[in-house]
Amino acid sequence: MERAVLLRSFSSSSPASSVLASTRFFSRSAHRLARLPRRHRLLPAAHRGSLLGRHIGLISPACRPSIHLKGQFCPLSVRAVATSSAQPSSDTLGADDEVAEKLGFEKVTEEFIDECKSRAVLYKHKKTGAEIMSVSNDDENKVFGIVFRTPPKDSTGIPHILEHSVLCGSRKYPLKEPFVELLKGSLHTFLNAFTYPDRTCYPVASTNTKDFYNLVDVYLDAVFFPKCVEDVKTFQQEGWHYELNDPSEDITYKGVVFNEMKGVYSQPDSILGRASQQALFPDNTYGVDSGGDPQVIPNLTFEEFKEFHRKYYHPSNARIWFYGDDDANERLCILSGMHISFCVIIGVFLFNRLWKPCVKLIAPRLFPHTFAEYLDMFEANSAPEESKVNYQKLFAEPVRIVEKYPATDGDDMKKKHMVCLNWLLSEKPLDLETELALGFLDHLMTGTPASPLRKILLESGLGDAIVGGGIEDELLQPQFSLGLKGVSEDDIHKVEELILNTLRKLADEGFPSEAVEASMNTIEFSLRENNTGSFPRGLALMLRSMGKWIYDMDPFVPLKYQEPLQALKVRIAEEGSKAIFAPLIEKFILNNPHRVTIEMQPDPEMASRDEAAEKENLEKVKARMTEEDLAELARATHELKLKQETPDPPEALKCVPSLSLKDIPKKPIQIPTEVGDINGVKVLQHDLFTNDVLYAEIVFNMSALKQELLPLVPLFCQSLLEMGTKDLDFVQLNQLIGRKTGGISVYPFTSSVRGKEDPCSRIIVRGKAMSDRAEDLFNLVNCVMQDVELTDQKRFKQFVSQSKARMENRLRGSGHGIAAARMDGKLNVAGWISEQMGGVSYLEFLRALESKVDDDWPGIASSLEEIRRTLFTKNDCLVNLTADGQNLKNTEKYVGKFLDMLPSSSPVGSMAWNARLPPTNEAIVIPTQVNYVGKAANLFETGYQLKGSAYVISKYISNTWLWDRVRVSGGAYGGFCDFDTHSGVFSFLSYRDPNLLKTLDIYDGTSNFLRGLEMDDDALTKAIIGTIGDVDSYQLPDAKGYSSLMRYLLGVTEEERQIRREEILSMRLNDFKEFADVIEAVKDKGVSVAVASSDDVDAAHKTCPDFFQVKKAL
Ligand SMILES: [Zn+2]
Repeated sequence: MERAVLLRSFSSSSPASSVLASTRFFSRSAHRLARLPRRHRLLPAAHRGSLLGRHIGLISPACRPSIHLKGQFCPLSVRAVATSSAQPSSDTLGADDEVAEKLGFEKVTEEFIDECKSRAVLYKHKKTGAEIMSVSNDDENKVFGIVFRTPPKDSTGIPHILEHSVLCGSRKYPLKEPFVELLKGSLHTFLNAFTYPDRTCYPVASTNTKDFYNLVDVYLDAVFFPKCVEDVKTFQQEGWHYELNDPSEDITYKGVVFNEMKGVYSQPDSILGRASQQALFPDNTYGVDSGGDPQVIPNLTFEEFKEFHRKYYHPSNARIWFYGDDDANERLCILSGMHISFCVIIGVFLFNRLWKPCVKLIAPRLFPHTFAEYLDMFEANSAPEESKVNYQKLFAEPVRIVEKYPATDGDDMKKKHMVCLNWLLSEKPLDLETELALGFLDHLMTGTPASPLRKILLESGLGDAIVGGGIEDELLQPQFSLGLKGVSEDDIHKVEELILNTLRKLADEGFPSEAVEASMNTIEFSLRENNTGSFPRGLALMLRSMGKWIYDMDPFVPLKYQEPLQALKVRIAEEGSKAIFAPLIEKFILNNPHRVTIEMQPDPEMASRDEAAEKENLEKVKARMTEEDLAELARATHELKLKQETPDPPEALKCVPSLSLKDIPKKPIQIPTEVGDINGVKVLQHDLFTNDVLYAEIVFNMSALKQELLPLVPLFCQSLLEMGTKDLDFVQLNQLIGRKTGGISVYPFTSSVRGKEDPCSRIIVRGKAMSDRAEDLFNLVNCVMQDVELTDQKRFKQFVSQSKARMENRLRGSGHGIAAARMDGKLNVAGWISEQMGGVSYLEFLRALESKVDDDWPGIASSLEEIRRTLFTKNDCLVNLTADGQNLKNTEKYVGKFLDMLPSSSPVGSMAWNARLPPTNEAIVIPTQVNYVGKAANLFETGYQLKGSAYVISKYISNTWLWDRVRVSGGAYGGFCDFDTHSGVFSFLSYRDPNLLKTLDIYDGTSNFLRGLEMDDDALTKAIIGTIGDVDSYQLPDAKGYSSLMRYLLGVTEEERQIRREEILSMRLNDFKEFADVIEAVKDKGVSVAVASSDDVDAAHKTCPDFFQVKKAL
């Protein structure tokens, strides 16, 4: 991920397939800094994304823009990749009513949902009241989720700690972490857990039916019968505990959630989000933090923790979701505890009614455990009443809140304020029609860079970047938030006025019809495309449905948008958009007194003050302890560590169900690819069912660009999409793109190519549209590339400030990505290029550029033109198209026309960019409470030749050694390694890590870990299967076409993929041991980069003087 994310794409009117987008009716533009309802995940998204993203790069799409991380295990059937237009076949119908009845379920409603071509049945478990939504269709990416309503009463983070803890061992799976065993050895396409402000959600997905049911069983057992409620050690490990290694040392706090939340509380955007939510809802559960406030987490007791589980993790309080092409009967069997074989028996007996009473009487006695495994083991409880979320009453007067956030002292301290206006839109939930209209309004006002509210705020020069996520409707009552960051103290009121005045103006004047048409097309396109990226479609639907279902409302309603959307369209046509949107702005925003203004002030002392307070607290704790207490604490600390570091016995590991190698296809997944030629340009075509959407990438070689122009490339890309042409200003151009296409984006792509000196460096222009608009798409792409005038100094300056703000944000929130890029920049040329365009060097470049825009605009403008001239030529251009056969054929003539319009210049030689950052250890200092620690070396330079086993080994190291040491006993939120199979760079990284040098020691211990590794065949098979799961990652059709393009660019052949696969499938324990010598190179020759707090760097230098070269970045 690192590289892909660093080189973010710039897109126009592009419906992003982010997690957020996929849960809403309307997608948001990739540009939005949307404020998610703060959801905490068991695994940082970064962990899975990044880790797999790159080292599996050879085989799956490594290098996509951030919004499409990965999909997984891929089918041979093409139909499942897009919701087909066919009705589901008879075998995807719902469960037999009689079987359901037999198993103790009552059918509540049944509907066919045209929008997702699914038959959905809502059941109620008669004994406990648990509700089950069983959705059947032909999507092979099956999804299961169980969701509990878990509103907290305080900010101790109980729901969040419980979310982590229940996956640490259960009744049937009594090992330390069955969750990790699943990560290691299943074919899951999704595996994680989320804590919302009021619910906790456990979803899994897989395309392999057997694997899917294994995952479901482990999750069900985990939530209902976890060991953590009996074992205080899990609570200590995942939540919080005092750590004391030796009675003479200081006591510290440790705990995975504790550290995760310290990271969250180091980010200004998160602090703002939390402050907004809590101030909007002072009277209900949203007024506290379900994730946990690090200052409050240590108040939580084990007793409260257990009680919370007992009360809320109960079938009566559960909503369960099944989705996909599996057998609907089997789903109910699992929930009630009868496996398929028994269902077959039941079926036979139903056929022969005479036997029925017999079965009823005898079978449960013969197989008690099989017959009552989950839901039936409980009696109804009162949780549904107690977990109800209360409505927040609307205020009579607006409220203003001033908060501080940690910043470092610097010159521009004055220009570091943030201000955000928030409204609670309604006291009661809104009907779907109003919600849909508000969502539409949100897109109109802020959805794209050309949307008026967004544009005016950014053009005002009052701040650097937008904050607030617009309309948010995932909680009980909808909210609207918008503001700016990078504001000077004196301008705060100006920002507030500007927002209010603009809203007033929009209510008075309405929106231009082009804008309304563009929003409508963008929304319809994204609904039709239904591109959830790496997120399973079934999970996106589940989260959408849950948004109402969790509040006891109709779960079907959010899935059926066609009719209300059509009605809205008709109303707009008949009454005009103003008649519809003006009253909404008036009622819900302008005349709504429930407004909270949050002002955030930078506080250079806050981080050290918090740290000092924590230290003082702990000193008091220690002072109160007797010598015996201290000895006991040291003993307990040691005991916890010992438990964490002792591996599960092999017998225990065997209880986690797994597939066998026989279940794994021997051949890699093939993507249909035809390499042809149009007007002398190479064209790759992928014939895949895409529901009439055409996906196109046009790739240009960047290697002729002068070295000093590289850092300008990301801003060049943004300028193409956010400046105007001679005839169209940028708003009109954006509207045109929104009206005719599904979006256009432009971004750089860089990677090493194995066995080659020169890196692959390209600019990719991506676009998508309905196939019958192919001509428009290519005309607009051409317009963007050639006609846009790169002359708007004022806008360019905004881009620079926005990029700077974004980079600063990334430094705090994704420091591991910044550290990885920095190490890469020291180890290979491709890494150096990426770092110039997305790392600390880029941030430094942007800071210098800010004043240069005023001093030497003509110079910059001519550099931008030079980039355009150098890049956009027919020479060495490549086109990649994904659609079905007929649509591909129809597109060819437009591609031909487009290519004819491209200038062809005489071939220019590649520039020699033989640059690298100095190979010194570096500490990038930022104000933070947690660190990001990295160490890396290039294995190819030590003579290592790539083998498939490396994929398995690096995944294994991440999920065992690093997980146990860096996360479980070290207390970091994440620790993983990553092998870039193109460059040979092997890197270790940690995420929100309380340690620094200690973590480096763990990295250095990896080779010894591998040498001493003992592993039976089962464990080896799991490791292999888990890796195949990554390699065969499930992909939607656009992702398939894109992967194939990446392989083409990076010279990965089908033969090589087959060889790697065979190497993976046939690897042995000995390969692990041999690899120990290979990664010894990281220990001996590796370079370290840490993004860390100055206190921790100082402390490190006391142990290891001058170890790091220090660079202050924020
Ligand atoms: Zn978490």
